[in-house]
Amino acid sequence: MGEAGNSIELKHITKQYEDGFTAVSDFNLEVKRGEFVTFLGPSGCGKTTTLRMIAGFDLPTEGEILLDGKSITNLPPNKRPINTVFQRYALFPHMNIYENIAFGLKQKKTPADVIAKKVKKVLTLVDLEGFEKRRVSTLSGGQQQRVAIARALVNEPEILLLDEPLGALDLKMRKEMQLELKAMHEKLGITFIYVTHDQEEALTMSDKIVVMSEGRMQQIGTPEDIYNEPVNAFVADFIGESNIFNGIMTGKLKARFCGGEFECVDDVEEGTHITAVVRPEDVLLTAPEEGIIQGVVSSVIFKGMHYEITVICGKNEMVVQSVKTAQIGSTVGIQVEPDNIHIMIAEDHTNIFYAEWNKNQKLEYNGTKLDTSVTKIIKGSRRDADGTLYDENGEVVDIDKTKVVITIQPDDIEMTDNVEEGLVEGYISNLIYKGDHYSYVIHSDLGQDFIVNDENLWNMGDQVGLIMPVDKMTFTLKR
Ligand code: ADP
Ligand code: MG
Repeated sequence: MGEAGNSIELKHITKQYEDGFTAVSDFNLEVKRGEFVTFLGPSGCGKTTTLRMIAGFDLPTEGEILLDGKSITNLPPNKRPINTVFQRYALFPHMNIYENIAFGLKQKKTPADVIAKKVKKVLTLVDLEGFEKRRVSTLSGGQQQRVAIARALVNEPEILLLDEPLGALDLKMRKEMQLELKAMHEKLGITFIYVTHDQEEALTMSDKIVVMSEGRMQQIGTPEDIYNEPVNAFVADFIGESNIFNGIMTGKLKARFCGGEFECVDDVEEGTHITAVVRPEDVLLTAPEEGIIQGVVSSVIFKGMHYEITVICGKNEMVVQSVKTAQIGSTVGIQVEPDNIHIMIAEDHTNIFYAEWNKNQKLEYNGTKLDTSVTKIIKGSRRDADGTLYDENGEVVDIDKTKVVITIQPDDIEMTDNVEEGLVEGYISNLIYKGDHYSYVIHSDLGQDFIVNDENLWNMGDQVGLIMPVDKMTFTLKR
């Protein structure tokens, strides 16, 4: 395999923990030799779990991991040419820097003179020449993290895994270390797999970014791809600042959103429901009559290089970056160049779940009786005097052998903080602002996620009840 060969490949990797929670689902990835790949996503999305499987600390429940084309799925960590740098450096406080770095090699019975040479080499690499005798406690956070990196590199791994390695450093130190790590990567020529929840860090450092959410890969691409062409609202929202609107295609290269009709360059069929993404730096403020839409300035914040201006356009809100300020309360026009409007076909967010028949043949969900009846659900069905159920063709229906599928739209579910009022209970695990409302993901106690649209801002982690009116549900019988 040449230079361009795959260093590591993940094939259909799934990790389900003992408690039944699926942290990673059907994860597929090919990393080229020498690449700098970053896993980017919010806390809890499965980044560390994926890294631990690559390192061998955890085994996948499904799927295969290949290194240079050969399966290493069941190889123990110390047999893999892979080393990890953790956020918490885990240096040995009672050892000096030399001993900390030499520790692994000593365990492997490497001759002392070879160890000495290798330690010297990696200390130079992390810019800590002459630090051999220093105690860990006398080093700054940044220096300690460099020792942790040196300790991983001294094993000369083919792949270096870095799990939020700069997370504990202050902003200035983090920026410096980002550049140093990038330089180190170029010098060493080995594969780096880097984990962060910081989109700016990912955009600055990576050759390739893997955006993750809730255990699934959302998008993979270069920083430019991810920034300019997000594949869905989650990626658009997570990467950089975005205005995200629901809309519809009203003609050829014409999209309606935020109360106006905009020209765009994405050729999507008329009538298609879309999500439109506009970056704040791409919005132009004009005189009211020159705008495609008009709005009222509601806030202006000076950000050093530009102003961040919020404009209320009817029920929508547009955030604008501008080098010129604007008057709060004034009416402005808004224009967006066609190629600065990114159109995505709206994802279908219909909620689907399954109900059960209780022993009285009443429909139940999560222990609550739903106010409907068998004869309403099965069109044309009837019961005879002794209770036997017949379908529209006069055939007997064995209700216990059927399953009822319920669907309900995100707009038709109401959230309440009086959790007992809800049909199900859960916490908010994700939220995306969609211009005139928020789209929430509620992780229910039943393990199922529900999508709910709401105009009000709730907080991540809020415990809520979901009120689902029976008259907004559709029922489908599966036999
Ligand atoms: P990240 O690194 O992206 O923040 P993790 O990979 O650490 O996320 O965790 C992903 C999800 O798996 C989280 O919801 C976490 O609570 C869960 N998780 C992690 N380890 C375990 C475990 N040993 N048992 C059960 N669930 C776990
Ligand atoms: Mg983590």
